[in-house]
Amino acid sequence: MKKIILTLLGIMLSVGPIQSFAKSVKIGMAIDDLRLERWQKDRDIFVHKAEELGATVYVQSANGNEQTQISQIENMVSRGVDVLVIIPYNGEVLSNVIKDAKRDGIKVLAYDRLINNADIDFYLSFDNEKVGEIQAQAMLDKKPTGNYFLMGGAPTDNNAKLFRKGQMNILQPKIDSGDIKVVGDQWVDSWLPENALKIMENALTANNNKIDAVVASNDSTAGGAIQALDAQGLAGKVAISGQDADLAAVRRIVDGTQTMTVYKSITELANKAAEIAVKLGNDEKVESNASLNNGLKDVPAWLLNPISVDKSNIDATVIADKFHSKEDVYQK
Ligand code: BGC
Repeated sequence: MKKIILTLLGIMLSVGPIQSFAKSVKIGMAIDDLRLERWQKDRDIFVHKAEELGATVYVQSANGNEQTQISQIENMVSRGVDVLVIIPYNGEVLSNVIKDAKRDGIKVLAYDRLINNADIDFYLSFDNEKVGEIQAQAMLDKKPTGNYFLMGGAPTDNNAKLFRKGQMNILQPKIDSGDIKVVGDQWVDSWLPENALKIMENALTANNNKIDAVVASNDSTAGGAIQALDAQGLAGKVAISGQDADLAAVRRIVDGTQTMTVYKSITELANKAAEIAVKLGNDEKVESNASLNNGLKDVPAWLLNPISVDKSNIDATVIADKFHSKEDVYQK
């Protein structure tokens, strides 16, 4: 008898009682904007992994609209999800809807972008200040002196501020020494290429086309800016940064019209987010490697490492990682 009980106990321990009795977690994923290439990848990988872990995922995209996102989150709360995974459009306006979610015992994971002044449970992202540092350093390597134009991201996105902070960590000493001159500084609403295009056209006109480098904060805005540069015969002559390793951007790097991008492994981010969301849904502890204050509390976080990509290491990074195929990048 004693032997049977011990054997049963052994089986229970090896199977893991928590896992074997874990509930099927319901996740609501509220995405800012599926119109941009990168978020489609995030969604696909996240949903696949979460379902593999036994969860159900409802996905909604606000297409860059603040009120739409709030309503979508309210709807997920009333549907009774266990966990909200939010890529905020505006990280400043979700305090109330998150208060309602928390009242219902729903866990909240801020995905890629921090949500300020709200009682969120976890924040998962990349080291975004480092992203900005990498971008600015690449521009200085290419154009150590000259006229610089700063093209920031969406003013509603906390990440856009972190990218700028990182860029300035690197640029400020060169501005102070007079090596470079910042001839313009603009933020691109919703990160949309068409907005970046207009901003770049105006900047070129205002500066008589005398711009040596554009510190663009991501690939979609770089794409718009490069269209404006191209119209003036300047594509490939002006250094320009990016971020996300979007397929179009990697192709532009191969063509020589974009200098670099920052590769952030979306596979790593989205898989990890799914694991964290399921853990939160099961009230399990989540390991952190950083902590960020969001105005209300110190939020436990996990930050991943971004990688600088230019012509010389496309194969060793995005292609080796199967983020894009060699055929797609080189179009052969
Ligand atoms: C992300 C970038 C992305 C941008 C626009 C930022 O919050 O970190 O990777 O390019 O949003 O969607």
